[in-house]
Formats: sequence, C-alpha cells, structure tokens
Amino acid sequence: MHAIDLTDPGPGEPHPDRAADDLYERLESDVRSYCRSFPTSFTTARGARLTATDGTSYLDFLAGAGALNYGHNHPRVKQAVLEHIAGDGLVQGLDLHTSAKAAFLSALERVVLAPRGLPHKVQFTGPTGTDAVEAAFKLARLATGRSGVVAFSGGYHGHSLGALAATANRQHRAAAGVALDRVTFVPYACGPAAAFDGLAYLEAALGDTHSGIDLPAAVIVEAVQAEGGVWVAPPQWLQRLRALCDHHGIVLIVDEIQTGCGRTGPFFAFERAGIVPDVVTVSKSISGFGLPMSLVLLRPELDVWQPGDHCGTFRGHQLAFVAGAAALEVFADDRLEEVTAANADHLAARLTGEVAAFDRRIAVRGVGMLWGVDLSALDPSGSLTRRVGAIAFDEGVIVERVGRNDTVVKLLPPLVIGRDDLDAGIDVLVTAVGKAMADAGIVPLA
Ligand code: PMP
Repeated sequence: MHAIDLTDPGPGEPHPDRAADDLYERLESDVRSYCRSFPTSFTTARGARLTATDGTSYLDFLAGAGALNYGHNHPRVKQAVLEHIAGDGLVQGLDLHTSAKAAFLSALERVVLAPRGLPHKVQFTGPTGTDAVEAAFKLARLATGRSGVVAFSGGYHGHSLGALAATANRQHRAAAGVALDRVTFVPYACGPAAAFDGLAYLEAALGDTHSGIDLPAAVIVEAVQAEGGVWVAPPQWLQRLRALCDHHGIVLIVDEIQTGCGRTGPFFAFERAGIVPDVVTVSKSISGFGLPMSLVLLRPELDVWQPGDHCGTFRGHQLAFVAGAAALEVFADDRLEEVTAANADHLAARLTGEVAAFDRRIAVRGVGMLWGVDLSALDPSGSLTRRVGAIAFDEGVIVERVGRNDTVVKLLPPLVIGRDDLDAGIDVLVTAVGKAMADAGIVPLA
C-alpha cells in the first residue's frame, strides 16, 4: 500500500483524501451507515489493527461485522491468495469445478463437517449472507410444500425481501416498500420479550387447528442473537426448539452467519447445545479474508433442488475459496477454539469486574468473542451508547452498537487478537463508559 501524501495534492487537483468528505456527501447515497460512526478514511489493516490515512492506528472491535474472525490480512491466508493470483488461477468461476473449489470443499469436510459428524451437503449461494438466507427459505419451502417461516423477536437475517421478512428491526422492515409476509415472530429465549415462553406458545399454536397459525416450512434462529443485542440462547432452549421442529416436521434453519467460523468458540454456536440443524446458513468469516462468500449446509434428504433451480453469477469466488481453505487450516492448526475460550474468560472477567461494576443496571452478556455491554437500563434512547462509541473511536477503538435503539455496545474483536490489544481495547471501553455516564450526569447505582 502507498501512503497518501497529504502535503502534495498535485497541480490543480484537490487531494483525494482532503476532498473525500465532500466526495462521499456528493456522490454516495445517504444509505451509508458504518462510515458515519467511524468518520475517517482507512488505508491499511493487519490483524486487529486498522490504519487511517492520517496515520492513526485503530483497534478493530468490529472486525468487518464478523467477516474478519481471523483478522485483517492474516499472513497465511494472504499468502495463499497471492500465490493463487500469481499463478493465474481462476478468479471468477460461476459454479464450475475448479481446483480452488475442490480445495475449499475438502478443507470444509476435514475441518468442519467430518469431525462434527455433520452429513450436510454444501450449496454455494450468491455472495452475501442474505443470499444464503434466501436460498435456505426457498429450499425449506420447496422441500415441505409449505410457505410459512417462524422467526424470533430481535432476530436479524439480512435485507433482501425474503430475509428481511424474518428480520425483526422495524426501521429495516419499513425500508422494504412492500408488505413483508409469511413470517410469524415469537419471543426469543432471552431479551425484552423473554417473559413470554415463545416456544410454549409455538407448541400450543401448532397443536391447535384453530390457532390461526399454519404449519410453517421452517423455523430460523440464531443460537446467539448478535444484531439483536447479544442475547445468548441457553442450550436447553435450543434443544427444545430442535425437538419441536422434529415433532412437527419443520425444517430448522440455524443462521450462523455472524456466530459461525469460531466466533463463539466452537466452529458453530449451535454446538453448545449439541443439536444438529437441518440447514445452516454460513457467510462473513467463511472466506477468512473478508471476501464475499456464502453457503448453505443442508441435510442430504432436503436436497430437492433440480439443477439450476437457484442460480447466481457470483457463486464461485475463487479467491474466497482459496482464502477460505487456508482460514479453515488456521482455525484448526492454531487451535482457535481453545484460544477463544481463554480470551473469552479474560474478556468476561474484565467486563464484569470493571464495566458492569460502574452501575448495577449495566448488563454484560456474551460468549466466546461476541460480547455486549447493555446500557439500555441507563438510557433507553441510545444516546449513551452513541457517546461511548464516539469516545472509544476518539481513543482509537472501533466498536459497534446493536440491539433495541442501539443501546448495546457490541464487542467483536478478531479471534486472533493478542492479549495486549484485547486489554488495550477493554481499557478504552472502561474509560469510555465511565466518561459517558459522567457526561450524561448519571449517578451510578452500586
Ligand atoms: N444473518 C445474520 C445473523 C447476520 O448477522 C447478518 C449480517 N449482519 C446477515 C444474516 C446478513 O448478512 P449480509 O449482511 O452479508 O447480507
């Protein structure tokens, strides 16, 4: 990467970086989002660190919204990509058979499917997470001949119309422009609506021919809701859901788009519950390098697709296959499950001991390297978390806000982050929460 020289804009040309704010405002749609929370311009990145054009180094506790579990430019993954390009390997491959795809599928079988006894087949979908969700819904509908889907309050599954129909956030739903139908929402295991036993309701409704709820094709669930505010479903709840789906012949889709690829410790978050989903949606970190790739894992008996039923030009991003195969090797060889368990204990202890200790209304929740600091009881409007995020950014740490009114600060550092960087990020967060509370005049409750 070339550093941008801020001193010499060249004759007659506005310096690209100085003109940048204006450029985005002028040319890029108002729909842009993350860049508003992190108002700088980035150039290089390595591991858990991003560097801005002004030279400032940032600790990345957002990690591409979960697409960078193995950090930015992981050396082993990058090397594999560079070698592929240097050797004129295919880059675009539709769904052709290629050496890169074969290597990825073999690695997936060896590292993920076989050790877990998962008999699932692999469907490559369009490149983003929402594409995997669309394919999963279509498949469940095709396989069962039914059309309904059950989803959970607080759930997040993407922004294309099918997936958006199963996404709970009202702001996101309102942008659809059409009615979003065929999805019944029930309360999740935990979170604001958890006083209601959603699964008991679902069981009762499905058993009552006059409940008004038809037998659905599928239930879609996150084993840990990330965007919904970091809510960790208890294993027993997931087991109940599995049993309910078995009882009624409903396809259980577990959305591992954010929680997969080692984010919560094990490769999939559902492993905590010892359940086997019928369908798993995977994306984000499956390419290990931030490259777009999505896939659906499906039980072989659900593979009712006819050739070409579900197509897409970008189902064969060869660099993503190459990087993904290397990343799976990294996950296994570097024992990232164990590394994450150790880091998680440390992160949990510090968040509980130092952040939650500010005020007993602060809740910290999480598993693995997916944690949330819930400030909703201090300020349900979300301005407190906005201030925390802004202070953290000023101090060089990038954190996102999620949950109802964005009242939860979400921590999503790369799994490969060093202990020093992890501690440095937590130090900033502790200071930011304390300062934001003081600025807001909040009197702590011990
Ligand atoms: N499902 C979950 C659980 C997600 O977290 C996301 C993205 N945040 C998606 C689906 C949608 O993925 P994408 O943004 O790549 O379409």
